Amino acid sequence: MVQSSVLGFPRMGANRELKKATESYWAGKSSVESLLETGKTLRAAHWKIQKDAGVDVIPSNDFSFYDQVLDHIQLFNAVPERYTKYNLSALETLFAMGRGLQRKATDTTEAVDVTSLEMVKWFDSNYHYVRPTLQDDQTFKLSEVVKPVEEFNEAKALGIVTRPVVLGPVSFLHLGKADRDQSVTPIDLLEKLLPVYEELLTKLAEAGAETVQIDEPVLVLDLPEKTKKAFATAYSKLGALANGPKLVLATYFGDIVHNIDVVPSINHLYGLHVDLVRAPGQLQEILGAVGEKQVLSVGVVDGRNIWKTNFSKAIELVETAVKTLGADRVIVATSSSLLHTPHTLASEKKLDPEVADWFSFATEKAKEVAIIAKAVTEGAEAVAEELKANAASVTARATSKRTNDADVKARQAAITEADYNRKSPFPERIAAQSKTLNLPKFPTTTIGSFPQTSEIRIQRNKFTKGDITAEEYEKFIEKEIDDVIAIQEEIGLDVLVHGEPERNDMVQYFGERLNGYVFTTHAWVQSYGSRCVRPPIIVGDISRPAPMTVKESKYAQSKTKKPMKGMLTGPVTCLRWSFPRDDVHQSVQAEQLALALRDEVVDLEKAGIYVIQVDEPAIREGFPLRDGKERDEYLKWAVNSFKLSTAGVEDGTQIHSHFCYSDFQDMFSLISDLDADVLSIENSKSDAKLLNVFKKEEYPRHIGPGVYDIHSPRIPSYEEIKNRIEEMLVYLKPEQLWIDPDCGLKTRQWTETKPALTNLVNAAKFFREKY
Ligand code: GLN
Ligand code: ZN
Repeated sequence: MVQSSVLGFPRMGANRELKKATESYWAGKSSVESLLETGKTLRAAHWKIQKDAGVDVIPSNDFSFYDQVLDHIQLFNAVPERYTKYNLSALETLFAMGRGLQRKATDTTEAVDVTSLEMVKWFDSNYHYVRPTLQDDQTFKLSEVVKPVEEFNEAKALGIVTRPVVLGPVSFLHLGKADRDQSVTPIDLLEKLLPVYEELLTKLAEAGAETVQIDEPVLVLDLPEKTKKAFATAYSKLGALANGPKLVLATYFGDIVHNIDVVPSINHLYGLHVDLVRAPGQLQEILGAVGEKQVLSVGVVDGRNIWKTNFSKAIELVETAVKTLGADRVIVATSSSLLHTPHTLASEKKLDPEVADWFSFATEKAKEVAIIAKAVTEGAEAVAEELKANAASVTARATSKRTNDADVKARQAAITEADYNRKSPFPERIAAQSKTLNLPKFPTTTIGSFPQTSEIRIQRNKFTKGDITAEEYEKFIEKEIDDVIAIQEEIGLDVLVHGEPERNDMVQYFGERLNGYVFTTHAWVQSYGSRCVRPPIIVGDISRPAPMTVKESKYAQSKTKKPMKGMLTGPVTCLRWSFPRDDVHQSVQAEQLALALRDEVVDLEKAGIYVIQVDEPAIREGFPLRDGKERDEYLKWAVNSFKLSTAGVEDGTQIHSHFCYSDFQDMFSLISDLDADVLSIENSKSDAKLLNVFKKEEYPRHIGPGVYDIHSPRIPSYEEIKNRIEEMLVYLKPEQLWIDPDCGLKTRQWTETKPALTNLVNAAKFFREKY
């Protein structure tokens, strides 16, 4: 028979219980015991959900109090000395690595002050993992408490024999890095690490784990030869343990065809898992490459998105595999862990039933794998009802008016090359802009938001709940705008902003004003640690029924003689920070967003706003995982959608863009091709040398590298900012340099913001005198 399996389940709980318990523990409001208890309750609940759904192979050790990669750092005793020296408890050490720890000395304990380990994006998802940070003389030792064994036993005691999940040794090392001042190449540590895996796997087998899921997602990347070879070294050992468990090696987020020569070295393993949602095309090649007795786990239920699986398509893929391998050698699975999907659709009480019928969250996806497996094993009749309902949902979605808007399609079809380009090249534009804007040298500005005070949040909540009227709320927002304008004028900034007090979130705010989007109330997904995000969902063709930001910007401009900067979130960021559609290519969705934003940009200009910033902080993370065609295509459509959204204005209107990022070495062409008149980027925490790329490539337009870190409450001094600008002038011409902070100021207090910006303006004035 064909079995069903889930590669991992979201940990937070239906009501983000884990987030709440963890943050309450951090705040000293609840005990460690109560946090541990919450973890245990959630694990039990999640196993039960999967069992009740009929899933055959249920994962364990997919739970984590912070991050699964961080758990492995601790599991292998690969914790840098700066954390171990304080004799913290294991859980305290885990959190110290995840988020840093600052604690005053007490009578019995010494003071602790340690920053966190680096946090990086997990492949191309919005999840972040903690990066293994390794030493030249790194040693590994299995921790005393073996979490995967503990959690396996915990499930077993509940009557559920699970398949433990561990991150494989090649991925663990490849995703790691040498600690600061160290020079080790992580993969060279493989021989030292393998004995720990042998011990771990043996212990799992002793505990009764028949199979273990060993994740090697790096197999979807372009790998150095040495790393590819490491698979043979690792799995010839781990697959041949005398008393070891059967291993299913799991890959996800892409195809592994380009690394197909690695597959023979893992062919003797019990099974291989591949992601057929992301890369269905790899199936034939994989079928030809799997070992003679090997089981193939086919990921046909999307672990990264919220759409109902199209059963008939999924069944077809599974049956193709069954034809070659036989039913006993095929497992129906989620494409990846369900970590990236929300807990359950059942919590959504406010969704329009029409669209709710198109969705499937983690709990529903667990049912899907079971149904597909049953359909293949017992035949369609066994699940006739489910198949019929699924087909009806799929048809309803494909033919819905919400998904198909003929006007939007017609407009897309009519786009011409000219729509992507500004009327004139930069030199002519900047000449026209100097006339309209009349700015001094070293113009100063901010990135958009000002402190989102508790008062702002209180009023927004009242408005959302209906406790105050729209007019009252609008009056409040206007008053906020008045205040930030007065402050900016007093400080002496040159290009002002309205401060974004009306925005709950930089994507949701726009989504709520566009056709084609829907919103959830509970669909949270973990971003890192206890932080969760609730991405809006793009369900259909996108259009803008009415202006979205013109009212606030126009009001703000009416209150000052200085130029007011309009503030929009760019098409790629709107797309990346939403759940996208899976029925049309992302480039199509970005283009629709771009057209909607283009109208907004033009309307802002008509309303007298002659500086418009289109933020694209997410443009870099959309960069495809592998070099080659997909990347080239991405660069093209990402750049085109930005240009399409901004090119509708006259030469005298200045287009700004902002990126929360400073290292452009590998994507300079993307940045440059956007053709934005002014770019503001993060730079204060990085080496000013990173700006050399702008000099080297003779970047012709204006740039404002952030002069101070807005993530910290620290107030930068006048001298400090002056020195920073001095460093920047090594790489940038005085006439192209803008002076601004690293990013928006919404998380800061006014007591920090005012003096910091005053120092910034004074530093700019110093250079105005000098040049
Ligand atoms: N304009 C936004 C702000 O100032 C930009 C935020 C971002 O780049 N993440 O908050
Ligand atoms: Zn930013």
